[in-house]
Amino acid sequence: MRRASTLALALARWTASGEAAALKPTSERWVGRQRLHPHAALFDATRRDGGVRTAATSSKPYAVLGGHAAARRAGVHAQGGGKTGGGDGRKASGKTSWTGRARVALFGAALAYVVATHLSETDEAEEESEAATVENWSGTKKVECERMVTPETTEELVRALESAKRKKMRPVGSALSPNGCAFEGKGMVSMGLLDKVVSVNAEKKTVTLQAGARVREVVEALRPHGLTLQNYASIREQQMGGFTQVGAHGTGATIPPVDDTVLEMKIVSPSRGLVTLSAEKEPELFKLAKCGIGALGVVAELTIQCVDAHKLVEHTWTATPSEIESKHESWLREHQHIRYMWIPHTDTVVVVASNPLKPGEREPRIRSGYSEKKRIEPLVRLLREVAPNVNPANMGFGQLRDELLKVNPLDVEHVKRVNAAEAEFWKRSKGMRVDWSDQILGFDCGGQQHVLEVAFPVGELEPERSADAPLREDLQFMRELREMIEEKQIPAHAPIEQRWTSGSSSPMSPAAGSPQSLHSWVGIITYLPTTVESEREAITRAFKRYGEQEFDKLGDKYKLRTHWAKIELPEDANRFATLRRQIREHYPVKEFNAARKYMDPYGSLSNELIAGLFKN
Ligand SMILES: Cc1cc2nc3c(=O)[nH]c(=O)nc-3n(C[C@H](O)[C@H](O)[C@H](O)COP(=O)(O)OP(=O)(O)OC[C@H]3O[C@@H](n4cnc5c(N)ncnc54)[C@H](O)[C@@H]3O)c2cc1C
Repeated sequence: MRRASTLALALARWTASGEAAALKPTSERWVGRQRLHPHAALFDATRRDGGVRTAATSSKPYAVLGGHAAARRAGVHAQGGGKTGGGDGRKASGKTSWTGRARVALFGAALAYVVATHLSETDEAEEESEAATVENWSGTKKVECERMVTPETTEELVRALESAKRKKMRPVGSALSPNGCAFEGKGMVSMGLLDKVVSVNAEKKTVTLQAGARVREVVEALRPHGLTLQNYASIREQQMGGFTQVGAHGTGATIPPVDDTVLEMKIVSPSRGLVTLSAEKEPELFKLAKCGIGALGVVAELTIQCVDAHKLVEHTWTATPSEIESKHESWLREHQHIRYMWIPHTDTVVVVASNPLKPGEREPRIRSGYSEKKRIEPLVRLLREVAPNVNPANMGFGQLRDELLKVNPLDVEHVKRVNAAEAEFWKRSKGMRVDWSDQILGFDCGGQQHVLEVAFPVGELEPERSADAPLREDLQFMRELREMIEEKQIPAHAPIEQRWTSGSSSPMSPAAGSPQSLHSWVGIITYLPTTVESEREAITRAFKRYGEQEFDKLGDKYKLRTHWAKIELPEDANRFATLRRQIREHYPVKEFNAARKYMDPYGSLSNELIAGLFKN
């Protein structure tokens, strides 16, 4: 563990489209009036300038700090039949089967640990730490952390957790999460330097990596072995630890969220030190810890099930809501990956669907009807009308949308016009492309934003569904959500994104369920296209109200579970009580809390969010 000032960390500067633009060493950064330590997992290096926030748009670069530069990393060692985790991690159903005796044993062990640590005066050396300021991707959450520890080896991580005792030691990855779920002002442990890909087992198609390895770099390490991850979220800057701990997901009716691809994990907890968990080793704890929201230990190492690298043929087209309703069942079955982007206040739904290129199949020629200039024309035209002082030259789609929304982001009539222009953009974007799955499945999700994403069970993906079967809950939900937006005249920004996964064997996953079960994920969004603090606050209030209206109308009816990286604690006491009730209905909270006590009796790994959600 070395102090930040002595580290030559690599500062990777990425554009929002994900291209690495520069790699330069740094020991500290000043952003605005703040001095940022290189421990800070992520900060927006461009959003402020001399204390004044500059425009934050999808085309502006943001910076991810932490992690060894890929170039400095030791090579990946392929092993024919070497080390992998055992078991497939999917044998059991999503429901936990903790016995009363196991729970008693856990409490007993935790109690013994508490007593022992109370009685023993330790003279362990303080871990090295520094203060750090960390901000999330959208600049909506920030923490001034008193003690950020950055271990460089697993041994250092173990020592740091041992010395934690009653001190805070909340794990943080890339700090992307919209709700800042990793943040804890009193103490955090950054995994940025534990980022090696340890080994690839080409035969078993598995990869073992340190939890701080970022998705983007894992993909590159797998490429020479003809392997890839099973699915991808929209961006790839997440660390594998954070990616799996929040139960992140891509889309595909037969593909589970990423936590379900964890075969084995090494996890470090204050009470137990370093333990290995898998379907064979402490299987009940393993199931809980795969998607443990950082509350059961700091994940040091993961063994992940991969798949053969493959190319995808992706088609994009638009449909009306009634076309979606009539074709949905067949589209869901026919495509390995499919997502809908509903454009509020319009009759346009964008469909993006892909399937693997078959072996021996010739790559189809990329087809797209319109030039880029023609595609963005409706947005450019509207911008010239509503913001004549803004020059649209060289702006791409995302930036144009940000500039348009910036004119009046909460005015419903204005938002309707922007959405109509966006619908026209997508109608002109109909086309097809072919590329490797990691390239196809990531997508530009726009500028700074508030997002609230929920998952809910929608039955099973039967081989066939009879023609007179009722509309599946995923589309019933969308009907009701769209009706609510119309009725209440909500200035709903586009898109409302709808995706699917199969069930996860992690009981703490929002999509917990059997491999046959089907879960829909729907995200509402409001962009933050302004840097004026009062305007950002007004947008934040309006978004909060939008989310509350969604939950009031549909929360219990559809058994909505919010994505762990997007859930927030309500300020209102009644809403807080409702959320806690819903959490207890959807998750095995007793077992999770028993495991928390066992692994972390003093709550070193906890923060306000975890304590609020799971308080007994
Ligand atoms: C622009 C954008 C697009 C996104 N798109 C998607 C998407 O398509 N699908 C989706 O599911 N999500 C999506 N997300 C959410 C995102 O995937 C998660 O926020 C992300 O996976 C968290 O990874 P991280 O490394 O940033 O973790 P952090 O935000 O740093 O931490 C997340 C949680 O994991 C815990 N944690 C982190 N590392 C460890 C560790 N080593 N051991 C134990 N606990 C740990 C933290 O304590 C915290 O609870 C998106 C987020 C953004 C900003």
